[in-house]
Amino acid sequence: MTPVDSPAGIRFENIEKRYGGLYALRRVSLEIAAGECVVLAGRNGSGKTTLLRIAAGLVRPSSGSVTFLDSGKGPMQGAPKVGFVGHATMVYDELTAEENLVLFARLLGIAEPADRAGILLAEVGLDDRRSSLVRTFSRGMRQRMAIARALLNQPEVLLLDEPATGLDPQGVSWLAETLRRMRDAGHTIVMSLHGKSEISSLATRAVRLEAGSVMADTRTGGSLSSILTFVGA
Ligand code: ADP
Repeated sequence: MTPVDSPAGIRFENIEKRYGGLYALRRVSLEIAAGECVVLAGRNGSGKTTLLRIAAGLVRPSSGSVTFLDSGKGPMQGAPKVGFVGHATMVYDELTAEENLVLFARLLGIAEPADRAGILLAEVGLDDRRSSLVRTFSRGMRQRMAIARALLNQPEVLLLDEPATGLDPQGVSWLAETLRRMRDAGHTIVMSLHGKSEISSLATRAVRLEAGSVMADTRTGGSLSSILTFVGA
């Protein structure tokens, strides 16, 4: 994995997201430094997905702002490349694995799309299924495709919403190893996870959301283990 050229952090300032009368996020202020590997913990409905989608630019906050930071913590010139792995895999069933990645590489304006697709197929362990339609893939293989798609443009910031979903133990180990290499190359990683796992052991920081607010943060004193395993009152 090549080291990141322009490491990027994220500053969330007073983020609120309302859906009608429901507050998905309430005045969330959180600064994530370039190169951190942050786990978002919290029960279903606590706002993790909403925060990740706001960072990815897929959801607009009702109020508040998101700023990307350079490694000196100043506002970044231009936007960093952001990769997002959400609940939907965002790949086409009726295309092969390779056709999907070549298509997305073209859409992203990547030079030599076929070469980049080939590298990613090898990286996510789908080389031997490159010519199979994604329709025929298992949940775990689709998740590998989603991760490959998110890595195509070598994003400085990688956002993952429960990325171990659908992966078998071998898949979880593979993902942990992939994320470890990305973290060590300077990519900023923010991911929602449930409980402790091989993947949570990569975290340099954990933040717990409850009912749309930050309730604990290892940065301000909580322990990684208690934040990851807290099940609520
Ligand atoms: P988590 O990822 O922690 O499970 P979410 O961010 O998905 O939490 O959801 C936070 C709250 O916002 C939940 O109450 C959820 O029902 C609500 N919510 C999320 N997306 C929408 C939406 N598109 N429309 C209405 N309510 C939503």
